[in-house]
Amino acid sequence: MINWNLCDTVLLDMDGTLLDLNFDNHFWCEFVPLKYAERNKLSLMKAKQILQPKFKQMEGKLEWYCLDYWTQVLELDIAGLKTEIAELITVLPHVVEFLERLKDAKKQVFLVTNAHQDSLNLKMEKTCLQPFFDAIICSHNFGAAKENLAFWTQLQQQYSFDKQRTLMIDDSLAVLDTAKRFGITYLITISKPDSKKPVKMDTYYPAIKDFSELLIE
Ligand SMILES: [Mg+2]
Repeated sequence: MINWNLCDTVLLDMDGTLLDLNFDNHFWCEFVPLKYAERNKLSLMKAKQILQPKFKQMEGKLEWYCLDYWTQVLELDIAGLKTEIAELITVLPHVVEFLERLKDAKKQVFLVTNAHQDSLNLKMEKTCLQPFFDAIICSHNFGAAKENLAFWTQLQQQYSFDKQRTLMIDDSLAVLDTAKRFGITYLITISKPDSKKPVKMDTYYPAIKDFSELLIE
């Protein structure tokens, strides 16, 4: 799938790529509506009806990933709620093996995420993946989500990598589209970002179901 001799930097998304998206899906689609319903004395169904358009409106924007934004808008302690169900944070199959092989092969590995710093910290604490990365880049620090070209130009200014020898793996097609426009040569997506959901068929990038398909020999 990849000629590793032609690739020396790997950019990895976190949620839905390295970590099971089931945590985030469950958190936003079930747990937050439940807490919102309790707080506002609504039925769960009503809470979902109110929240869904609010979430939809922010998709792909930096606010969507911002815990402070949702804490304010929903009047719920979003970071606190995340820790309540933190046991659902899990690493997807063969991720650790994949990261070990990258390290052995001396590839430069960056974690590149839209996740908010608090969310990132909680997930690194739960999964212990941090030592595998040469850098952890949070798009909030650039003021632009990965879906925005401004993210990529800033990334290139601050970190040294050759985009023609770089692989980006992300479960978001919108992010890969922007990475492609920026000029990243190798792009791969994840067809099973959520362990509890069926394999996604709508990908127009090369896709892996899990990292066993991409291990360096
Ligand atoms: Mg993702």
